Amino acid sequence: MNSMIPYGRQEITDADIEAVVEVLRSDFLTQGPMVPRFESAVAGYCGAKHAVAVNSATSALHIACMALDIGLGDLVWTTPTTFVASANAPLYCGAKVDFVDIDPRTYNLSAECLAEKLVEANARGVLPKAVIPVHMCGQSCDMEAIHLLSQKYGFRIIEDASHAIGGKYKGELVGNCRYSDITVFSFHPVKIITTGEGGMALTNDPALSNRLQRHRSHGITSNRDEMFARPADEIWNYQQIYLGYNYRMTDIQAALGLSQMQRIDDFILQRHAIATRYNEMLLDLPLVTAQQHLHSYSSYHLYVIRLKLAEINKTHRQVYEAMRASGILVNLHYIPVYRQPYYEQMGFSAGYCPQAEQYYAEAITLPIYPGLTNSQQSLVVEVLNTATGG
Ligand SMILES: *Cc1c(COP(=O)(O)O)cnc(C)c1O
Repeated sequence: MNSMIPYGRQEITDADIEAVVEVLRSDFLTQGPMVPRFESAVAGYCGAKHAVAVNSATSALHIACMALDIGLGDLVWTTPTTFVASANAPLYCGAKVDFVDIDPRTYNLSAECLAEKLVEANARGVLPKAVIPVHMCGQSCDMEAIHLLSQKYGFRIIEDASHAIGGKYKGELVGNCRYSDITVFSFHPVKIITTGEGGMALTNDPALSNRLQRHRSHGITSNRDEMFARPADEIWNYQQIYLGYNYRMTDIQAALGLSQMQRIDDFILQRHAIATRYNEMLLDLPLVTAQQHLHSYSSYHLYVIRLKLAEINKTHRQVYEAMRASGILVNLHYIPVYRQPYYEQMGFSAGYCPQAEQYYAEAITLPIYPGLTNSQQSLVVEVLNTATGG
């Protein structure tokens, strides 16, 4: 009972540590060979043609928006049930953000709500330039349906797959970009694999890949074909052709990521084993678990329950606080983004997406990560059972 159980954490082996130390002893701490190797490993694993590693998924979302030319006056839609970064990225580009309500069973952006909102938006002539679906907890959104809508209404798609590397949709790995322009992963330590901080943007479009690479590094190119014509003696080895950023990943981080990639399938299997045990152990508790679609194989980044508050004499907050007081560091993913003060200042208010708000009023994220033991898991369920009054 003494040690805390977090909701998520990294698993680091001696091999990971050696991979990092090897880079520290090498000539290149950044802009060396490890970043392209890590990019190839992830692209190869997912079945995407191109991958661009950056210093966070937030940066990846930002350069993804830039690569799709999202700018002032454009409209981008995402889900309210996500980390704020999914909505902040288009704001960095000067775009406006709006939210599509979730499917209460999967907690994912609802393709049905999207279809309805598109009909309305079309009638008013205010269609989004891009939609950012988020694969909540690691379960893919209904990408085929969203992709069909994108063809009908002409918007671009960025998958925020920060939770979902290693997950599958219709038998194929998330990240292959079959239904999107760009897919983004996060390598924060609570996610599936880690680089400390880090992210990646994947695409099958060479022009988009090229733009992602330029935006990652100041908008600079050293490719002569891309350079602006200048008198021969003024052409140096590089030119800045866009306004970009320094969002580069270091080789130290890439080495850790590459080493972690060797265990990704094991990580996913461990997460599935934990989720399966929870599904069984929680059957008689006053809660519901996320419905898994037949076509989906979740990466199980998160395991979120929804309390049946009508059946218990405790509030959401009481259950949450009782668990934390017992050392089970449960979390809440997520407060609807538009309920954040920054977004309320833009004019959003309570009640805007009723399903996301109902979800927020009931959701609790239980611990799930490779290395969580059976006895720790049993303790989580025992504490939850007591906290709900069982
Ligand atoms: C973690 C996360 C991000 C941001 O990832 P960073 O790598 O920390 O920038 C974005 N979107 C979602 C859905 C996330 O869970």
